[in-house]
Amino acid sequence: MKLFLFDIDGTLLTTDGAGRAALKSAGNDLFGFDEDLRTISVSGSTDTAIVQEVLQHNSLEASTANVNRYLGGYLVRLRQHLASLSGAILPGVISLLDVLAQDGQAIGLLTGNVRRGAEIKLTAHGIWDRFGFGAFGDDDSDRNQLGPIAKRRAEVALNTKFSEQDIFVIGDTPKDIACARAFGAVAVAVATGRYSLANLGEHQPDHLCRDLADTKDLLFRFGLR
Ligand SMILES: [Mg+2]
Repeated sequence: MKLFLFDIDGTLLTTDGAGRAALKSAGNDLFGFDEDLRTISVSGSTDTAIVQEVLQHNSLEASTANVNRYLGGYLVRLRQHLASLSGAILPGVISLLDVLAQDGQAIGLLTGNVRRGAEIKLTAHGIWDRFGFGAFGDDDSDRNQLGPIAKRRAEVALNTKFSEQDIFVIGDTPKDIACARAFGAVAVAVATGRYSLANLGEHQPDHLCRDLADTKDLLFRFGLR
């Protein structure tokens, strides 16, 4: 059995800017910011790190109380923004998840989204129950700490051990590639987010794909066929 750990935004789905809009309006409504998030590096970061950065950027302390208040407001607004915007599951995702599940492979999440935010986004698209475990942005603000957490949870949930070469981290940003490297997993970069094939290629992932549409090719790359 191999372990497949998926990023969410730009990899499994697009929220049509709902996440960013919710972060923006939560900061503006709760703290009176006039923040457009333009100077904050959102893609591939954890929600916790983004919120800490926005608070500091607006000269507020990134205390646990402020971070939790901000994230609470974000989650309420995320649900509202998801309902009004037209996000979508990205090409090939459903068929890849179907085949991996039929094949008895382990499927989890490795994302900077806080757990509740991940649940809201994936539930909105009907795929939350495809993932039995994962590591999230509220497990650690440093994304590179999340890989070992996801691995441990998978091993406990499935009562098995995974060696690093059998763990695939699938994501759309250089931070996903770094996150895979940080615990020795295989980095699969997919250019369905903000980064082009060429941009991602500069970071030398083990596998580089335009999208997840070619299930057969992916299974071959994963050593499953
Ligand atoms: Mg992403």
